[in-house]
Amino acid sequence: MKNKIISALFDQMADIMEILGEDRFRINSYRKVARVIGDIPTDIENLLAAGQLTKMPGIGKSSLAKIEEFAGTGAIAAHQELLARIPPELPELLTIPGVGPKGVKAVYDQLNVTSIAGLKAAIEDGSVAGLAGFGDKKAAAIARGIAFLEKSTGRIRIDQALGAAELVRGFLLDVSGMLRIRTAGSLRRRVETIGDVDMLVANQAGREAGERIIQAFTDAVFVREVLASGPTKGSAIIEAGGIGVHVDVRVVPEESFGAAAQYFTGSKEHNVRLREIAVKAKLKLNEYGLFKADKMISGPIEEEIYQKLGLDYVSPLLREDRGEVQAAKEHSLPELIQLGDVKGDFHMHTIASDGNCDVSELVEAAKKLGYEYICITDHSKSSVIANGLSAKQLAQQIKQIRKLNEKAKGITILAGSEVDILANGKMDFDDELLAELDFVIASVHSGLAGPREKVTTRTLKAMDSPYVNCIGHPTGRLIGQREAMDLDMAAVIKHAAETNTALEVNANPWRLDLKDTHCRMAIEAGVRLVIGTDAHSTDGLGLMGLGVATAARGWATKADVLNTISPAKIRRWARSKRPK
Ligand SMILES: [Zn+2]
Ligand SMILES: [Zn+2]
Repeated sequence: MKNKIISALFDQMADIMEILGEDRFRINSYRKVARVIGDIPTDIENLLAAGQLTKMPGIGKSSLAKIEEFAGTGAIAAHQELLARIPPELPELLTIPGVGPKGVKAVYDQLNVTSIAGLKAAIEDGSVAGLAGFGDKKAAAIARGIAFLEKSTGRIRIDQALGAAELVRGFLLDVSGMLRIRTAGSLRRRVETIGDVDMLVANQAGREAGERIIQAFTDAVFVREVLASGPTKGSAIIEAGGIGVHVDVRVVPEESFGAAAQYFTGSKEHNVRLREIAVKAKLKLNEYGLFKADKMISGPIEEEIYQKLGLDYVSPLLREDRGEVQAAKEHSLPELIQLGDVKGDFHMHTIASDGNCDVSELVEAAKKLGYEYICITDHSKSSVIANGLSAKQLAQQIKQIRKLNEKAKGITILAGSEVDILANGKMDFDDELLAELDFVIASVHSGLAGPREKVTTRTLKAMDSPYVNCIGHPTGRLIGQREAMDLDMAAVIKHAAETNTALEVNANPWRLDLKDTHCRMAIEAGVRLVIGTDAHSTDGLGLMGLGVATAARGWATKADVLNTISPAKIRRWARSKRPK
């Protein structure tokens, strides 16, 4: 898919124009095009060929011409021309944490800095600190940003970010007593990867108390490096789970807590929409509150800000400017699936393959979670590395599960399998054995790097099996480690709808596969989602919330997700695809 490349090119054009001090309006329109393209789940070249690209919001004639140019030549002349106007290493400066196009413009215009090495030298000789609006503190923060960049890989997984947030939250509760603390930013929106962790603390006791909280945070034992420290904000790299995590803590007055939560949760694009609505209503919205002239009409409660703008409350999971503001205006937001709606887990491994506990341990853990059922899905024989079960072993496991099921109280154990999809699209077990199972997940575990047509055909063929109820982790990506398969997702979703096959939302934070935009596409096509934790231990069952959040980010309601129905209905649903 060329979408990501084209999106990045538009973003870079916007960055360069900003550095060159060009027209704000054009910069913003390029940013918009970058975002729209980045969000399209379908291959942009297909849309282009079908003449549907002009229907996308924000893509005007000149952007369309550039996209066509890229499709034809693999480059955009306007982008090349912009690049030629700046030193070649300058765009790298934008990758330093805390340095945006404005900062790059300043050091480039005024100090003639053209590379990271040059910026380091300019910090050392004091000239960065001497720039208007910079100073010693900011220069030192940039130096630490460079050091961080040099030893980090950038964005972190959501479980790593959650771990860091929990650590800081516990610490702040200890030092400050009964305070309202909230995670904001991309973590609150449950974006699949996180740049930095934003925490907000409500302050009821005035400026000094706020300073004490920030001081305590930056002095904490887990802090590796302090990037900035002021009366209301502390910024630090903390040690959490073996990695360095950038955490920002902000102390905000209690009466502005809701407005700050709204503002710092973002996304930026969502907030732009909200501010537009405020302006139309002759109101002003910022991180301190909602104002009519100089009078604050809302601030402490986030929900109230939406209400006063004439909107239904928008879940943080939807705040991406993907139509949620319009829906909030029209009272047509979806009633999102919640963790409490989940009656069971579809995907888990036992010690029989590569898990570390047995069926009864998983049953006990699932009961504690209040589940009505679990589905045991060990690997099949071709997954040799994962110690996949032979046909004979699976037949035995099915018997064992039926026996346990008779004894088990208050929970149903479904017999399932995570069957390998072989290179030719066939199943790793024969139909006779698959027919014995309550629910079958079929997954690709090898040959993921194959060409688009090959990997797509393989998955489509798997769905043709009347025994395959769900495709597991459909794209096979591992976040930060392995690219997704080059699947034609539109074709996969279409065929899933045609064959009544569900698609998995694998809740493992390495996977989150399907991802949010693909979930939305599947739901719009009427495809059911199945959320599976892919647990290899009892702890692993606890990842369900991440899968639910990912589905909800794709606008999933209870009705879109099979985990919300009873085990009897699941059996019936699975049987409905089989020969009568
Ligand atoms: Zn798998
Ligand atoms: Zn698995």
